[in-house]
Amino acid sequence: MQSCARCGFVVYPAEKINCIDQNWHKACFHCDVCKMVLTANNFVSHKKRPYCSVHNPRNNTFTSVYETPININAKKQSKASSEVGSHHRTARLFVYC
Ligand SMILES: [Zn+2]
Ligand SMILES: [Zn+2]
Repeated sequence: MQSCARCGFVVYPAEKINCIDQNWHKACFHCDVCKMVLTANNFVSHKKRPYCSVHNPRNNTFTSVYETPININAKKQSKASSEVGSHHRTARLFVYC
């Protein structure tokens, strides 16, 4: 019998996911940081532990390598809109002071 790399209990074929050379319950195969349940298609392995793409430990040192143009655009947009928001707030403060 194969046991789950996370909880140690027996894994039956119906609930098994085989990743990083280990067997996991589908529910036990989650990100080590945020516990988000992962699939064989969206996990990142680091030192034989699964992570989601957000908590990929390798991202901490090589962030730019993993950034797609879409992500960069989204960041620029959110930064721009937050700047606009703070300008509005400042303007209102001036009016009421
Ligand atoms: Zn398990
Ligand atoms: Zn995570």
